[in-house]
Amino acid sequence: MIYMDNSATSHLDPEVLREMEPFLKEEFGNASTFYSLGRNARKALEIARENVAALIGASPQEIIFTSGGTESDNMAIKGTAYKWKSKGKHIITSVIEHPAVRETCKYLETQGFEVTYLPVYEEGIVSVSDVEAAIRDDTILITIMHANNEIGTIQPIAEIGKIAREKGIYFHSDAVQSVGKIPVDVIELNVDLLSISAHKLNGPKGIGALYVRKGIILEPLIHGGGHERGIRPGTENVPSIVGLGKACSLASTHMDENIAYLTQLRDSLINGILENIEESYLNGDRNNRLPNNAHFRFTGIEGESLVLHLDSKNIAASTGSACSSKNLEPSHVLMALGLEEVAAHGSLRLTLGKENKPEDIPYTITSIKEAVETLRKLSPLWCSAENL
Ligand SMILES: *Cc1c(COP(=O)(O)O)cnc(C)c1O
Repeated sequence: MIYMDNSATSHLDPEVLREMEPFLKEEFGNASTFYSLGRNARKALEIARENVAALIGASPQEIIFTSGGTESDNMAIKGTAYKWKSKGKHIITSVIEHPAVRETCKYLETQGFEVTYLPVYEEGIVSVSDVEAAIRDDTILITIMHANNEIGTIQPIAEIGKIAREKGIYFHSDAVQSVGKIPVDVIELNVDLLSISAHKLNGPKGIGALYVRKGIILEPLIHGGGHERGIRPGTENVPSIVGLGKACSLASTHMDENIAYLTQLRDSLINGILENIEESYLNGDRNNRLPNNAHFRFTGIEGESLVLHLDSKNIAASTGSACSSKNLEPSHVLMALGLEEVAAHGSLRLTLGKENKPEDIPYTITSIKEAVETLRKLSPLWCSAENL
């Protein structure tokens, strides 16, 4: 199978699995106990924390382990809202956030908070001056994602963070799609809070981290023992944390070569599709996007049918986010780009991984071309467009 859905999840790197294995077997100690078995677990956990911190330019004490990207987003947003509600109840976000951010903001609206959802422009990018204009005296949080999970566009996080810092407003960024794929440095980005998920960077599912800058105070969402500085109690998931740490150190070691390799594959895929298939378009900015993201739309096609056709050719792809393709509503991200509903429905996301081979690209282009031509023959949308 050719797997081109790495933004939904990625395969567990064999080196990551190897690192995790002892902690699923003989090294099963509770990291809070003081005999050697427990101390081994604690040591592995703290090495993992150092590896996560090193990948994003943080210090280890600023890393809190969570159950994944969704929890990290909830912790950052609700944790800020609940802690600082006496200072103000206004939150700024964008219309293209992942549901983990969007639905959390929507929930807070039912709890008396006010949320401003900033638009994006044609290329899928938030405007820094829009952020500045939206700030009010009662704004307590700005949350804008680093790289979008559907169209891969990269937001001007450092500039937004600079404004937030000047105004003393907490700034969170969901960096689940960018960490491990492009350089992420929390100091350069001026962020206070940043979400990470292991399974998007060849680590295990159900584990992630939240970067919490020194001095930033959050209300805990769950209560229990004092683990993770009391912010996130519960016996630590040592094997998965070790996996996250290893995934981060591998991403760090191979960052430059991965970027070069994936960018080359991505660009030959994009050029091949746009040159060989009529009425095919790229969604999102041509260059300011993740090195592994290609997102197309094809006139007169249903994205879901295209995904099924490609599945029959052993190619795993997606119409957009795994979450929004379950209900057949058009993606909120594509609608935010100003696309018509019909056009948004004709989209296909291909997100590459380092295990993709150069020869996968021509095969994928040919398969998509065949599938698009077959589907267009059956499509009333396409016939009517041709007859106009
Ligand atoms: C996948 C994803 C999440 C959710 O992470 P989980 O670890 O699956 O909970 C959050 N934000 C973005 C941008 C994502 O791509």
